[in-house]
Amino acid sequence: MNMLRIAVQSKGRLYDETMLLLEEAGIKLNRGKRILLLSAKGFPVEVLFLRDDDIPQSVANGVADVGIVGENEYVEKGAEARMVKRLGFSKCRLSLAIPKDETYSGIEWFKGKTIATSYPGILLNYLSQYHVKAELHVISGSVEIAPGIGLADAICDLVSSGSTLTSNRLKEVAVVMQSEALLIANNALSEEKQEILGELLFRFESIQAAEGKKYVLLNAPKEHLKEIIELLPGVKSPTITPLANDGWVSVQSVIAEKHFWEIIGKLKQLGAQGILIIPIEKMIV
Ligand code: ATP
Ligand code: MG
Repeated sequence: MNMLRIAVQSKGRLYDETMLLLEEAGIKLNRGKRILLLSAKGFPVEVLFLRDDDIPQSVANGVADVGIVGENEYVEKGAEARMVKRLGFSKCRLSLAIPKDETYSGIEWFKGKTIATSYPGILLNYLSQYHVKAELHVISGSVEIAPGIGLADAICDLVSSGSTLTSNRLKEVAVVMQSEALLIANNALSEEKQEILGELLFRFESIQAAEGKKYVLLNAPKEHLKEIIELLPGVKSPTITPLANDGWVSVQSVIAEKHFWEIIGKLKQLGAQGILIIPIEKMIV
């Protein structure tokens, strides 16, 4: 049987959210003797666990059909695989950082300096845009300690909160690129595999559509129904059902979580009662 092979990180910062996404998409893995390659129950995919460095190339050469990997790694490896979808998690940025006591004059500061990084390709490309020549010192881990031990003048590394920089007495001075997890695919998938990928994408999109959305149910006085409906656009339009009490109707709709408190406050002012907020797991629009 034809299966779509998905390469994912075996452990690390991408692992948890990748596994959660697959699980929410209905991909439950069979436990097997082999730990690097697991098949799924009831869906024609198998999951190959790799180091994230190896994912772009594995997808490009067809060892895996698709992969979930950080944009930083995808761009750095320059592998010939196509980007199918931004997944919106593992967000971080690749930044240049220098010792915190240095005065930063702008990108020229880096001229003739030594920069430690795991992303020489991306960094060289970035520096050349500004005609800055620097010496790159390529190391694969613990880049942030390089300036402290005299191995480099500066670093170019992944940052999310910036606390690692601070604790190494470094400051972020320029963002080289933003990154998030991507779904990438081999350029020459068979028609059958393309079809499985289509189903997988549909499931991912249904999960993303539900993110940050809540289902709201409330009783509204008819006299304010029009204003209440305006607050609740819903997917198409809200559902209105009559109540035994003539002056009232029940209203059901979908709201975005970020506007939640604002909307609830206005609903209360308009006399809405019995407001129920229910989580949405998936949304097919
Ligand atoms: P592997 O052993 O698989 O090679 P790794 O040590 O290279 O793992 P991780 O540190 O697990 O990689 O990070 C994996 C990816 O997670 C990064 O390439 C990046 O896309 C993303 N990421 C998100 N936030 C951060 C962060 N604060 N620091 C580093 N990477 C992050
Ligand atoms: Mg890695």
